[in-house]
Amino acid sequence: MPHHPSPPSAPSRRLTALVAEADPAVAALLAEALGPRSALVTARTLAEAKAALALGRPDLAVVAARLPDGPSAPLLASLVGGEHPPAVFLAGTPGDIAAVLAAVALPGLRLLPLPLSPGLAEAALDEAAADIAARRHAEDGWRLAKRLLDEIPHLSAIFAGGELLGLNRSFLRFLGVGSLGEFKAKGTPLERFLAEPPAEGLAAWAGRLPDDALDRDHRLYLVHPDRPDAAPHVYQAAVSRLPGRARCLLMLADVTELELERRELLDLANRDPLTRTLNRRKLGDVLEAETARAARYATPFSLALLDIDHFKHINDSHGHDAGDAVLVELARRITASLRQVDRLARFGGEEFVVAAPGIDLAGAAELAERLRRAVADEPFAGVGRVTASFGLAAWRPGDKPEDLIKRADAALYRAKDGGRNRVERETPPQTEVR
Ligand code: GH3
Ligand code: MG
Ligand code: MG
Repeated sequence: MPHHPSPPSAPSRRLTALVAEADPAVAALLAEALGPRSALVTARTLAEAKAALALGRPDLAVVAARLPDGPSAPLLASLVGGEHPPAVFLAGTPGDIAAVLAAVALPGLRLLPLPLSPGLAEAALDEAAADIAARRHAEDGWRLAKRLLDEIPHLSAIFAGGELLGLNRSFLRFLGVGSLGEFKAKGTPLERFLAEPPAEGLAAWAGRLPDDALDRDHRLYLVHPDRPDAAPHVYQAAVSRLPGRARCLLMLADVTELELERRELLDLANRDPLTRTLNRRKLGDVLEAETARAARYATPFSLALLDIDHFKHINDSHGHDAGDAVLVELARRITASLRQVDRLARFGGEEFVVAAPGIDLAGAAELAERLRRAVADEPFAGVGRVTASFGLAAWRPGDKPEDLIKRADAALYRAKDGGRNRVERETPPQTEVR
């Protein structure tokens, strides 16, 4: 919807009409019927009619089937084509059946009743004038709506069925084109600008959205055509259905800033700033959820508590910053060795917890052994060899998160006692001293 500098026309604007008729009596009758409500142009030949049409298309045309310089079918054909054809009437020329037949084959042509009488002509023209006024009114409303859309900053697109009917100025600017026609001529579908386009296509997807201009639940990720490698912007999508012809308006509001802020806040709330692992608060949520799930679905859930060996010594010999770097690197190595479903959290100081859903104590022992090696097998830059000890516990019916932690901590204590750099499981229930 490019900007239209001309003001929307008033519905009361006069009709423009063309009468192409060689018979002066018929022409006079038509002029009488049309004169009061239209700006009238008369032509007596095809050549005159063509010259008049070159100046602009009329709203309404009455054309004789044959004019002195030839049958008018080609002229009529040029009138009835196009997007908004005028109301075209054929004023038959009695006796010239061939010319009438050639003309009436054209779609959308109306016949003026013959012989022409003032009353019948007026009634037919009245009806056409009312149609035109109604259409013009609708077009004026449509034009006004397009102008309003051009004023809003959201990217807006109008679809009718599967077809893209309009793009507002913001959308055209985003796409780097001047008009909808230019965009369509490039042949690049809108989906090309989406990071994760809906499989059914954008128009169908938009058509399925609830009719709610304030909808906040639907998002699209748009890639700017000038910056294909930049992170996609996040847009909130909302749809309004427009009256008539199944039109819908899709509005996309850029919420990238908000989204980044939201993620930052989530990060602050959930992550340890040094190691970027989950913090203890978030770990509490994870353990609550996992123990509840284990209880509900009777699926295994295991937990590993790990503690860096002689960490105080690392701090003392290499400085606190080197100690920090070890924590970061250790978190990185462990994260890289985990399965997708496992979560790593900093429990405090140089202690971490791995929450491992879906595996029992034996599975957790395998996992922990892998983690132990990931830490111990490669020296840490500037510090040398670092090891960690592991204590494991698996969920038992009735366990609260703190029960698991307590048993894993007891196992960890035994791992330390047993020489460090090792994995110890919790003691089996029957021998455990509570
Ligand atoms: P052990 O093998 O028995 O676990 O010995 P350790 O030295 O690791 O045990 P201890 O719990 O006595 O020492 C932990 C040290 O971790 C003490 C504390 O100064 C240090 N520490 C805790 N948090 C941080 C941190 O964020 N950064 C650094 N650099 N050090 C930390
Ligand atoms: Mg410790
Ligand atoms: Mg330690």
